Amino acid sequence: MAIASTNPATGEVVKTFDAHTEAEVDLAIAAAVVAHEAVRDWDFDQRAKHMHKLGDLIEAEVDSLAEIMTLEMGKTLAQAKGEVLKCAKCCHFYADHAAEMLADEIVETDAAKSYRAYLPLGVVLAVMPWNYPLWQVIRFIAPALMAGNTGLLKHASNVPQCALALQDLVERAGFPEGSFSALLISGSRVEKILRDDRVRAATLTGSEPAGASVAAICGDEIKPTVLELGGSDAFIIMPSADIDEAVKVGVKARTQNNGQSCIAAKRFIIHADIYDAVKAKFVEAFEALIIGDPTDGDTDIGPLVSREARAELDEQVQTALSEGALRVTGCETMHGEGAYYRPGIIENIAKGTQTFYQEFFGPVAMFFKVEDLDAAIELANDSPFGLGSSIWTQDKAEQSTAIKRLEAGGTFVNAMTASDPRLPFGGIKRSGYGRELSSEGIRAFCNVKTVYIA
Ligand code: NAP
Repeated sequence: MAIASTNPATGEVVKTFDAHTEAEVDLAIAAAVVAHEAVRDWDFDQRAKHMHKLGDLIEAEVDSLAEIMTLEMGKTLAQAKGEVLKCAKCCHFYADHAAEMLADEIVETDAAKSYRAYLPLGVVLAVMPWNYPLWQVIRFIAPALMAGNTGLLKHASNVPQCALALQDLVERAGFPEGSFSALLISGSRVEKILRDDRVRAATLTGSEPAGASVAAICGDEIKPTVLELGGSDAFIIMPSADIDEAVKVGVKARTQNNGQSCIAAKRFIIHADIYDAVKAKFVEAFEALIIGDPTDGDTDIGPLVSREARAELDEQVQTALSEGALRVTGCETMHGEGAYYRPGIIENIAKGTQTFYQEFFGPVAMFFKVEDLDAAIELANDSPFGLGSSIWTQDKAEQSTAIKRLEAGGTFVNAMTASDPRLPFGGIKRSGYGRELSSEGIRAFCNVKTVYIA
């Protein structure tokens, strides 16, 4: 894929970039090693000073950073600003908490003193997607730098300006030169970097094929990985739920970020007693969404990331319909230059069809009717994915059954799945492994060293 900024709202190629040469990549890796040797020796106060600066810079530049995101991938400006501010919060969170998360942990043994020490691994390669072009990267690099690691970023080829802006911010925050370099390269050049002895670990957020490829290479090289992959999250609504709230939040959970979120609610599993009423409310809410220019403050849904992505989504919907699914509302390609798609709902998707097991990476909600909680959980778990999950019920017993039995990296009760720096984030099954955020995220790229002093 060419490295270029293409405005999804107009189809215009705004700026193209030359890929970095092999020599430039080599220099970036060398600089990341040197920077690691410096950051490793900084104490937590010094790291925190620069991490707070990074958070402050991000916050101060919210408007320009949000504009770049909207330009390159089409999310609404309002949501882009929200993402920028969340990045700033994440920086401040790790600046404030890394020291306690990585403090030595004394363990009583036969030694005079023995403890766990959390030490950095070195240079970590991050392969990142375009859908949350700032947030996905910050949630990696903020804990990584606070732990004393340094990073290399292979960002998605359609968000080069976001990648370069992030590198620039880290430099201006005062981290040593080379602490975080954006590599403008294609996915095919990732293997060579992963096999470089100077690179100690990798994290990838993206699709299953990309994750499987990176994990296979790192397996061969015996290097640790964290994988954050796709999802087809269940959103279960039971009769005791606050239906209006569930619908309001459900629409947001399916359509935010123009429907292109790994943790979007994708499968709405609704109890038969309330199915028709819930469906009617969803239809009304979907049909009221304002689709249009992402820079306009009134817009709810901007374009999809590209016309290719829209064609892929539409093909999935057509396959679903040919397999017997029914269109409830929307699900239509819209005319014009931009990659606009009308959000919609399909139902009657039969178990065993292709569609039933797929992730829809766009604003299409799949609706299922079930007779009871057991059936809801069985359906929710009948998926290759296991990222997030959400259940709406006031019944405490139902809540606790769902928490125990839903196969997912997270279960949100009467709330939508969302990431939060204070809580671990990640998936199971084909949604990946390892955790980001919270203490798990910062420890993911640490050497948990056993120290024994006789
Ligand atoms: P993608 O095609 O896998 O791209 C993600 C990144 O991987 C890009 O930088 C891409 O580079 C690179 N890449 C692609 N193939 C590669 C390969 N064989 N080796 C190394 N790198 C490779 O994913 P996407 O379609 O842009 O993103 C959507 C997917 O990401 C969805 O499935 C979504 O659910 C998932 N996602 C998961 C999370 C999570 O936290 N679990 C968060 C966000 C998104 P190029 O752009 O140059 O191809």
